[in-house]
Amino acid sequence: MERLQKPAYGIPHTPEAPLFHAENVTVRYGDTVALHDLTFTLHQGEQIAVVGPNGAGKSTLFKLIAGEIRPNSGKVTLYGTDPNDHLCIAYVPQRKNIDWSFPVSVRDVVMMGRIGRIGLFRWPRRHDRDIVQASLERVNATHLADKQIGELSGGQQQRIFIARALAQEAELLLMDEPLAGLDIPSQEQFFTILDDVGISTIVATHDLNLAAQRFDQVLLLNTELIALGDAARVLSAENLTNAYSSHLHTRDDIIIADTCCNH
Ligand code: ADP
Ligand code: MG
Repeated sequence: MERLQKPAYGIPHTPEAPLFHAENVTVRYGDTVALHDLTFTLHQGEQIAVVGPNGAGKSTLFKLIAGEIRPNSGKVTLYGTDPNDHLCIAYVPQRKNIDWSFPVSVRDVVMMGRIGRIGLFRWPRRHDRDIVQASLERVNATHLADKQIGELSGGQQQRIFIARALAQEAELLLMDEPLAGLDIPSQEQFFTILDDVGISTIVATHDLNLAAQRFDQVLLLNTELIALGDAARVLSAENLTNAYSSHLHTRDDIIIADTCCNH
């Protein structure tokens, strides 16, 4: 009989199950094949970068892990069970898919992370407000609490989403191109905070050098899985040529991927 371990919240995790497993997964939108026959495993506790050209299927993969979409064929598991309804995932979509004009304060955005814990139509209690405050402190953002989320810089907004994941008590943080448009100091701050909070993280990025320098594992995607593993092995000239073919230039050890971040 299958042994199940009940976590404090959400649905049970299977002990020793990997963070995420995909088995012969294909996802289509109408006639477009977004992901084709992916089989791979991601392990708990790792910082993983997902890289690949525009249209490679990165966002589709994130939606699959977050349980927002299901594969047309194949099977996915998160902590050994169906990804749907896991409370322990915090998913931050690409910037262009977020409505920044929505009149909501930073504190409220972070409190939204508590909804799954509190339950809909119930009021936050003192305990929830304390967790929100502590989460804001961990990302150095208490001074931003009463601002509207749309007023913040890109780097500040990403910190607030990390705070929301902390308030949610998430075990997995999925961030779709959080670094796009951030200047170098904001990127540095982002990584310092991520290292500090210590949650398993999967980040989609266009920046191959950052992927190589800052992540334990790199998953290189171009509809099919090109490679997964250590950056040095994955980001080989051969794999990059396979993934990017037409829009890649390399100059000594600098890799320039000629793709647009606003896709
Ligand atoms: P990436 O994030 O790597 O740019 P996406 O996952 O957004 O890639 O897209 C993968 C492929 O699926 C692309 O060809 C894209 O045009 C297509 N696609 C993505 N979302 C949809 C959608 N909602 N409807 C139709 N096609 C889509
Ligand atoms: Mg995308």
